[in-house]
Amino acid sequence: MKKILQYIALLVMVFMLIINVYDYFIGENLGTNSDSNKYKVIRVVDGDTFEINFDGKKEKVRLIGVDTPESVHPDANRNVKEGKLTSEYTKKYLEGKEVTLEFDVQERDKYGRLLAYVWYEGEMYNKHLLNIGYAKIATYPPNVRYVDEFTALQEVARENKVGLWETVTNEDPNTEQSLTGYIGNENSKKFHRPDCNSVEKMSESNKVMFNSRKDAINQGYGPCGVCKP
Ligand SMILES: [Zn+2]
Repeated sequence: MKKILQYIALLVMVFMLIINVYDYFIGENLGTNSDSNKYKVIRVVDGDTFEINFDGKKEKVRLIGVDTPESVHPDANRNVKEGKLTSEYTKKYLEGKEVTLEFDVQERDKYGRLLAYVWYEGEMYNKHLLNIGYAKIATYPPNVRYVDEFTALQEVARENKVGLWETVTNEDPNTEQSLTGYIGNENSKKFHRPDCNSVEKMSESNKVMFNSRKDAINQGYGPCGVCKP
């Protein structure tokens, strides 16, 4: 009997040792990955999306709060030269570099991508893109920690007509549109400008809001033939 008790005590000790060792090497890593860990950017997908090596796993990261023009859409007509420009820019700036991720309320979007504020050499890349006018604000509540700063940066870029704002006047209705969003019909799978007649006729329960064209298209919605969003 005494022997069995000794044996059990030994088992418990070994078990606790294993837990401690596990905690030391793995638990600690998991606990601190929000701010201090650096991740290597292995491939840039487009201006606002890239892949990192996330603790040995390949993960996609989408910048929070900003949107760059389309460059890798399967429908080539959707891709614009500004999209290529911002994509190349992000590639030069971040590919192969070590970045730090800062998360907001939601860690991932509906496509499973990590949503992050991306820091490189003490600067937030999301802000950097707005600053040089290579991205526009796209607000995705509840991830709005820096929305005021982002808005201020975009206003300055717009006033100074830098980057994408170079050829845009402040009165351009298309610009306003890209900042206020689109409305989709869940039944027809079409999306519209908010002032389209179809939106008035649509029942509230069928309405789906999109922050950007890209967002609507990514979710399988097609542009309305009347209001041509
Ligand atoms: Zn329409």
